Amino acid sequence: MSKPLKAPFRTLTVFCACGEKLLRYRKKGKGRLVKIHKLRIAKDYTGIFSRELPEGENVICPSCEKRIATVRKINGKWVFKLNQGQIGMIRK
Ligand SMILES: [Zn+2]
Repeated sequence: MSKPLKAPFRTLTVFCACGEKLLRYRKKGKGRLVKIHKLRIAKDYTGIFSRELPEGENVICPSCEKRIATVRKINGKWVFKLNQGQIGMIRK
């Protein structure tokens, strides 16, 4: 069995629960958005995901000052693990 050649990417717009527009993001596969891979961010509207942050650092929404995500390094790749309770609308 071989994998399909085309990765099923969906480009999503992700908002904070407070309404702040955060990201255009190329999500791979189905299912809910749990983590953000830094390399798949198409646009970072506020710049908070583009800064160099150490592992374990929190990403804070510039509008409501609540924690949106935490920085993690998984298999050598930088990812943001989302705080599900603080993620608002996700739009295609
Ligand atoms: Zn917010």
